[in-house]
Amino acid sequence: MKAEIIPVGTEILLGNIIDTNSSFLANQLPSLGIDLYFVSTVGDNQRRLVDTLKQAWKRADLIITTGGLGPTQDDITREAVGELVNEELKVDEKLWQELQDLLSRYLGEIPKSNIKQATTIRSAQIISNHMGTAPGWWVEKGGHIIIALPGPPDEMKLMWQESIFPKLQQRVTGEVILSRVIKTFRLAEAKVDELVAPLSKLSNPTVATYINPDGVYLRITAKAEKKAEAQRRISQSEEQIRNILSPHIWGVDDDTLGSVIGELLRARNLNLATMESCTEGLLCNTIASGMESHIYFKGGLLAYCDEAKVSCGVDTSIVRQYGGESTQVAKAMAETARRNLQTDVGMSIGGNMNPDKNSGQAFIGLSSDRFEQTFTHMLRGNLSRMKQRAVYAALFDLRKMLLEEV
Ligand code: ATP
Ligand code: MG
Repeated sequence: MKAEIIPVGTEILLGNIIDTNSSFLANQLPSLGIDLYFVSTVGDNQRRLVDTLKQAWKRADLIITTGGLGPTQDDITREAVGELVNEELKVDEKLWQELQDLLSRYLGEIPKSNIKQATTIRSAQIISNHMGTAPGWWVEKGGHIIIALPGPPDEMKLMWQESIFPKLQQRVTGEVILSRVIKTFRLAEAKVDELVAPLSKLSNPTVATYINPDGVYLRITAKAEKKAEAQRRISQSEEQIRNILSPHIWGVDDDTLGSVIGELLRARNLNLATMESCTEGLLCNTIASGMESHIYFKGGLLAYCDEAKVSCGVDTSIVRQYGGESTQVAKAMAETARRNLQTDVGMSIGGNMNPDKNSGQAFIGLSSDRFEQTFTHMLRGNLSRMKQRAVYAALFDLRKMLLEEV
């Protein structure tokens, strides 16, 4: 199958916005065995979009557009696809009702223009948007598939992952393809590769590794005629991987280190407070952005300089004796967070980061009735990478502590 991607939007054409949608989609197509030959960017202009679609129709079986599905005048993708396949746009009453129900939760009065988002053509299958208001389209006509996805990258990705990717998989192979992602921390990719080498040689399931800011991930992908068989193959591989990498595995699929910590704290009926310096609020933000984090997270202190640490309650003599960024102060910061916010667990990050040398050190402090620990980690990379790494390292340490000690 040959594909062409058409990102729609004048802001993309003129370079005001980087076209991350196309790079995401281009990365996804090879795993489906679909060849991508062209990415054709076009502005918000119906005539030029129709011309571009016609051109793509001649040279591709699969056309994927992103953007232009909103309610405004310059959102013209639906109209253009209708024109391409020569079908009239009509309001789908059921869809319009659903859209009004959704919009009424956010808006007092629903603008009439939103009805555009409930229009459809005969050959279109509506694809739900679980993050925004613009539904997508899957259109099949004359041996071609045209997929219209929304422009906002989060909405586009979710629709792709939830609906489009599985539908295409089935179409391309006739088989069910399932995958599972296993997430590890504190192991280099080369080491993971080496450890799982015998599994990487298999062809069904396949095991591939890739790096993320929060560790090395392994993706197991299995194909089979029936879902149960694909599932069985995945479970078998997952068990083998767990036997090899167990202490390093912290999550699967959509888990984040923040969500994993949240689950552990909730299961133990514990709450948490944080105190940080060089990570500038990133630790607090990472934990607070978890689902229902208010249940287990009471708050975070941010003390950048030594005076701020002391004013929060860190013993001035410890700061003077060991220096503001030290394991001793990290320990005192974890205790301070716990004491000030009256929580079961306190956690801290301090450290030195030298962006000129792309290197640094993070000091992690953990404190509870049951454990009191500090850890030191070496950091590499630019400043934002070092901060992120320090936060993930701290969360990984806390996870370990909660599993072992509580
Ligand atoms: P909306 O309902 O938000 O109008 P839409 O489907 O009409 O959604 P657009 O109006 O084309 O989408 O784009 C909305 C926003 O999504 C853009 O302003 C931009 O921030 C982002 N966006 C659109 N296309 C891309 C792209 N190809 N790559 C990255 N971001 C994009
Ligand atoms: Mg728009």
